[in-house]
Amino acid sequence: SDVGSQKDRVVTEEEWLEKWEMGNIGFHKEEGHPLLQKYLAVLLNGRNGLRIFFPLCGKAVEMKWLADMGHSVVGVEISEQAVKEFFSEHGLPYCEEPVPEISGAKMFQSTSGNISLYCCSIYDLSSSIVGKFDGVWDRGALVAVNPCDRQRYASLMISLVEKNSSYLLVTVSYDPNKHKGPPFYVPESEIKSLFG
Ligand code: SAH
Repeated sequence: SDVGSQKDRVVTEEEWLEKWEMGNIGFHKEEGHPLLQKYLAVLLNGRNGLRIFFPLCGKAVEMKWLADMGHSVVGVEISEQAVKEFFSEHGLPYCEEPVPEISGAKMFQSTSGNISLYCCSIYDLSSSIVGKFDGVWDRGALVAVNPCDRQRYASLMISLVEKNSSYLLVTVSYDPNKHKGPPFYVPESEIKSLFG
């Protein structure tokens, strides 16, 4: 019942936009995530010039970090404010263009070309639009997805990765009786059933 209390909870896209507008973004960290540093070798697996995907990217500073290492970064984020703040806070010039396949969506790309952020819902993406990825950094993404959308999210992510890809997933272990989330409580057994 404790975990069940989160099951029907939904954070709408409007609520996420409002969090950005209000500056209610405690999830954003200025420092690169220690677990990405710790597991970088697992993500890269000795490879260079990877295509790395950041689902629900916010303005994660790790995108800049990986791009500076020579990888090509693609993110998706519903908040245009977040996307613009990412480029401006790193002093990166960018251009902006519509995405013909998705009505209302825009793609923001660094002028250097190695960071592309789609401003739309992740559920609008497919591999025919963004291609497939060699690596994924999923921090604050699966755990922020509404519990009712988890299966859809996992199936989409699986469709967006190459066969020999590495997927780093950060989850949070806590007492779901004490916190409502997001991030939502995702038990390990569910991660296994979602990603196999
Ligand atoms: N991964 C980021 C942000 C995590 S918070 C980080 O590590 O800082 C989750 C983010 O997902 C928020 O910025 C929110 O605006 C965005 N978001 C929520 N639902 C989304 C959706 N359906 N499609 C794309 N972005 C979404």
